Amino acid sequence: MEHAIGVDIGGTQTRVAAVGEGQILARRAFPTRGIHEVERAIREVLVEVGWPQPTTIGVGAPAPMDMRAGRILGCPNLPHWNGVEVTQDLGRAFGCPVSLANDATCAAIGELAYGYRARDFVYLTWSTGIGGGIVSGGRVVWGASGQAGEIGHIVLEPDGPPCACGKRGCLEALAGGASLARRAAAELGTSLSARQLVERAAYDAAARRLIASACRALGQGIAILWEILEPERIILGGGLTGSWATLGPQVLSAARSMARGEPRLERTRLGDDVGLLGAAALPAHLPTDW
Ligand SMILES: [Zn+2]
Repeated sequence: MEHAIGVDIGGTQTRVAAVGEGQILARRAFPTRGIHEVERAIREVLVEVGWPQPTTIGVGAPAPMDMRAGRILGCPNLPHWNGVEVTQDLGRAFGCPVSLANDATCAAIGELAYGYRARDFVYLTWSTGIGGGIVSGGRVVWGASGQAGEIGHIVLEPDGPPCACGKRGCLEALAGGASLARRAAAELGTSLSARQLVERAAYDAAARRLIASACRALGQGIAILWEILEPERIILGGGLTGSWATLGPQVLSAARSMARGEPRLERTRLGDDVGLLGAAALPAHLPTDW
């Protein structure tokens, strides 16, 4: 039996799990710090499930990375991880192969292995930022260096608001949770999270306009994906999809108004575990020539 460890490093929370036969057998969740905390959590779940050592470790992170080298590059959101040699350090600690990939690509792998299991779909994270992973013909689309699927950084408005990546008018800068919160502060004069902004839109026209423009931008991004890839479904997860009853119909109608055909959207059924399960399954889905 596979003794797989999945690690999902998030902007605020890190989650670690021992996964066997697609089931999470033991897990830890803790505020994101550095690699030592991850190492300790892996040791704890190994003891809990009685495995002497893992067969593989897969790590997903929301950061620029050198995937071949297994190294995280500079990332303002993950200061303890800048330059960390993830695969080398964990490989040395646990004596097994370790792989590293973008967190949204890991979530797409989670869907491919345990969720939607279709041949052609796109996974989209709609949270503080916006990320994506593409599955085409039953295989993960990695691109030349593992960076394919960075849907949040498609530029929709070249003169639009600045994005964390340094460009302007990216989808993430128009519809990501952090940018929505910033726009709420600037335009409504009050400090609100994106989720609170969604609640306020029920009775406040200015909040409603902000939400509508974010949904329109996301719909535009989805229409672009649809025209390029013609996926069977676009599967969404992440914090903002918790407000799907309000946001989903707006995103869908925007996407359908800008695409030929009828893009289909669906929320992930794996909930918050989609990225964690995908990280554990990552080693089986790596490019074969790496
Ligand atoms: Zn960007």
